[in-house]
Amino acid sequence: MVAEQLEQRGIRDRRVLDAMRAVERHLFIPLEYSDRAYDDGPLPIGAGQTISQPYMVALMCEVAALTGIEKVLEIGTGSGYQAAVLSRLAAWVYSIECVPELYHRAAAVLARLGVNNCSLRLGDGSEGWPEAAPFDAIVVTAAMPGIPREFLEQLSPAGRLVAPVGELELQSLVHISRKDGGWREEYFGECRFVKMTGKSGFND
Ligand code: SAH
Repeated sequence: MVAEQLEQRGIRDRRVLDAMRAVERHLFIPLEYSDRAYDDGPLPIGAGQTISQPYMVALMCEVAALTGIEKVLEIGTGSGYQAAVLSRLAAWVYSIECVPELYHRAAAVLARLGVNNCSLRLGDGSEGWPEAAPFDAIVVTAAMPGIPREFLEQLSPAGRLVAPVGELELQSLVHISRKDGGWREEYFGECRFVKMTGKSGFND
């Protein structure tokens, strides 16, 4: 998985590659799909949600440029896989999930793996986690129609936001950071995430 899906596609950050090698993806996937755990794509994890494609997890981590000292917020814990990868790249990970079944399952897997630098919360993460702010990085793993002001307000001065922003069916991976008193946006290609629900998400 790491050699063919990540290194060959250009993921270069050693720490990201090591973390992706260390975290066993099959532990985060329902048994019925475990033979596909290292496949090059997303997989169902229940409640109509998916664990992201390994490449997308690695790309988001690389784009977030983590060195090990950061406080990171993830929106959309899902299976807990990306939280486990982030926990190896940053000092502390905060992760929010709104589906109780997924929150409880992710909490159990992360505890079993001995991940001890991650705080999980059950609730709407579409407005961030203000009590734990500021964050050095916010990684959004559900599609958003736009960037809520609350996310930007919860970034530290050198903080960066990595998020899939766009339409329900297709988004762009955007990296946002402060520049000259404003915001600088960089784009890292197209992506397809399940939708963000909640106050600042997609409302049907
Ligand atoms: N990062 C996950 C994959 C996330 S899939 C992993 O590694 O497995 C997106 C997740 O975002 C889903 O589990 C979905 O329930 C959750 N989600 C969607 N809207 C949300 C919201 N407003 N607050 C918190 N979680 C949300």
